[in-house]
Amino acid sequence: SASSPEPRGLLLQDVFIAVKTTRAFHRSRLDLLLDTWVSRTKQQTFIFTDSWDRGLQERLGSHLVVTNCSAEHSHPALSCKMAAEFDSFLASGLRWFCHVDDDNYLNPRALLQLLKALPQGRDVYVGKPSLNRPIHTSELRAHNRTRLVQFWFATGGAGFCINRKLALKMAPWASGPRFVDTSALIRLPDDCTVGYIVECKLGGRLRPSPLFHSHLETLQLLGAAQLLEQVTLSYGVFEGKLNVIKLPGPFSPEEDPSSYPAGRSDHVTQL
Ligand code: UDP
Ligand code: MN
Repeated sequence: SASSPEPRGLLLQDVFIAVKTTRAFHRSRLDLLLDTWVSRTKQQTFIFTDSWDRGLQERLGSHLVVTNCSAEHSHPALSCKMAAEFDSFLASGLRWFCHVDDDNYLNPRALLQLLKALPQGRDVYVGKPSLNRPIHTSELRAHNRTRLVQFWFATGGAGFCINRKLALKMAPWASGPRFVDTSALIRLPDDCTVGYIVECKLGGRLRPSPLFHSHLETLQLLGAAQLLEQVTLSYGVFEGKLNVIKLPGPFSPEEDPSSYPAGRSDHVTQL
């Protein structure tokens, strides 16, 4: 039988990596990423922000995307950025879309290993489930009616990936101004909206992966031996205390508030 040629194996160049940031975090968060993991994934990483910045422009060139989205922390402003990420991915022609926040450390080797092991011929939405159950909410319908819906979604702050096959099916709800419109139907943040589109509009499922991490979880529980396998890491403050990976290094928490793997010494790749 006439069979189409086997697609070649997945390479990092096939992955579109979108980082969401905002004016207030250009110095405090983004510079750190550019000094660490982004320096190894420059070709496929695009930074989505809301304000022009000479320093970033000089370092990133066309990989800095200054959206027209507002610099506020509202659902529409955040959804506007996710829409810009999604549209740039569609235009790129690449095989995978991966989103991370500007307080994520991404391990490109682990990411590629994860994506390679996923079924390329199917629709894939992979990430860390935000809750241990589906979220329940009401969806606005025509004529002021509402309907109860439930769906799983991946925490945006831990990063998630979607393959092109699925992204193309999402376009009627996610491309151009439609992402913001869809997000208004459930009045929830951008990461919830992604789950809503995949599960409620397309009947797909989130594929849970324990390799994505946000600062909503206790990061100290990750041991040094497991770090190289993790796709994303993060750092933050929880109840007034630093929530960071514990890994000794030359920088004090004051010098490097992200603490280790995400930090200035970029330990993960030195291990
Ligand atoms: N962010 C944004 N606009 C804002 C505030 C935050 O685009 O007004 C981005 C920020 O750069 C980060 C993500 O949204 O990539 C999550 O923000 P943050 O880590 O401050 O909050 P969290 O939700 O993780 O507590
Ligand atoms: Mn965060």
